[in-house]
Amino acid sequence: MSQTIAKSNQTKRWQEMDAAHHLHPFTTHHQLAKTGARVITHAKGVYLYDSEGRKLIDGMAGLWCVQVGYGREELAEAGYKALKELPYYNAFFQTTNPYTAELSQKLSEVTPKGIDRFFFANSGSEGNDSAVKIIRYFWNLQKKPNKKIFIARKKAYHGVTIAAASLSGLTSMHPQADLPMPGFVHIDCPYWYGEGGDMSPDEFGLKTARALEEKILELGADNVAAFVAEPVQGAGGLIIPPATYWGEINRICKKYDILLHVDEVICGFGRTGNWFGSQTYGIEPDMINMAKGLSSGYQPIAAVGLGGRVGDVIFNSDEEWSHGFTYSGHPVACAVALANLEVMQKEHLVEKAGGSTGAYFQKKLAELGDHPLVGETRGVGLLGAIELVKNKATREKYPSELDVGYRCRVHCFDNGLVMRAIGDTMVLSPPLVISESEIDEIFYLARKCIDLIARDLGVL
Ligand code: PMP
Repeated sequence: MSQTIAKSNQTKRWQEMDAAHHLHPFTTHHQLAKTGARVITHAKGVYLYDSEGRKLIDGMAGLWCVQVGYGREELAEAGYKALKELPYYNAFFQTTNPYTAELSQKLSEVTPKGIDRFFFANSGSEGNDSAVKIIRYFWNLQKKPNKKIFIARKKAYHGVTIAAASLSGLTSMHPQADLPMPGFVHIDCPYWYGEGGDMSPDEFGLKTARALEEKILELGADNVAAFVAEPVQGAGGLIIPPATYWGEINRICKKYDILLHVDEVICGFGRTGNWFGSQTYGIEPDMINMAKGLSSGYQPIAAVGLGGRVGDVIFNSDEEWSHGFTYSGHPVACAVALANLEVMQKEHLVEKAGGSTGAYFQKKLAELGDHPLVGETRGVGLLGAIELVKNKATREKYPSELDVGYRCRVHCFDNGLVMRAIGDTMVLSPPLVISESEIDEIFYLARKCIDLIARDLGVL
């Protein structure tokens, strides 16, 4: 790019190239082409910078993933070293490499007790598709070939590949690709604020957990393979389960011999204040899927971790396992993930998310509860949600055509804050390295932008 081109022209050129040739995830393309995509050129710490020199504080850690913040030399060095020494080799044909072996060992130390064997993929979606195949194979090896139905939840997000999208319960994802596939069903989720009505959170937690038991009895336990769920539902609106929920789910899965596959893609690696959401909520997974924070997003990498029950059966099978990617256990991705986990351990980032940093974040989040537009704030660790409502007493939301959440997000961008809108639920998930003064900045801007949308709506 020529240095003589003025900055705004550079931006325009990138936007034009992008509009002409780049298809974006979850985007209405002809609309984006009119406005032009925001061009993010670099990032440092918790801040993003765009091609017009504007600075934004990233309240979402990218897509819930940049645990160690941007611009970490340790990760860049680790990637560079691996790129020089072993830029690629595969894990087929009885080979491994130091990075993949060491990352596997490290994961066995930080994942919940009993999760000891890891299969590597490149994205959370691939991880879940792999998990579906592992579960099918497990029941085939167990000589229970009828146990094939997957139960997941409404508002779940498990990714976009065919099986992952079938597991997902965000119904807008289904019609374009004729999904879900047969054999994938969805039960109610524990979204107390939106759907709990007059019940207490604890009552609602039990009710929605028992929806699993009802579904198993309806389908027949002999036909059900697994229950798949996120500890806290992320992209579905940051749905934090009531305290009664997960214990009951553990009980039901055991009683009916249903595998419990926990999708830790967002909740893993410190997000909820422990290494994994399963630890925060006392979940007893048979297997987990992880991605995002595994490499802080610096490299595409995911892993499916297997507990003894499933892992031993796959491990001891006499036939070759017919699954795996060209890039499974990619040396550069593994080297960067390893460096990321070392930084997280050295800087006690998980302990901070579950301790001082998390507590400060939750205190500031709760303070927004006094705003006339805020019906509820909820959070755990370094996750936070803010429900924008018309009526605080009845929890009534604004009509969807008013696009309140989206318009609030636009105010945020315009004022230098990245805060996500899921319907009218505003969501925060900042890097784990965030300082108290940066948390102050996020909540100062969040309140300012909620004031702005309240003014637009005539509330202030
Ligand atoms: N599972 C969960 C819980 C997720 O939040 C996501 C992504 N947001 C995925 C799976 C899919 O991951 P990816 O986009 O890397 O395929």
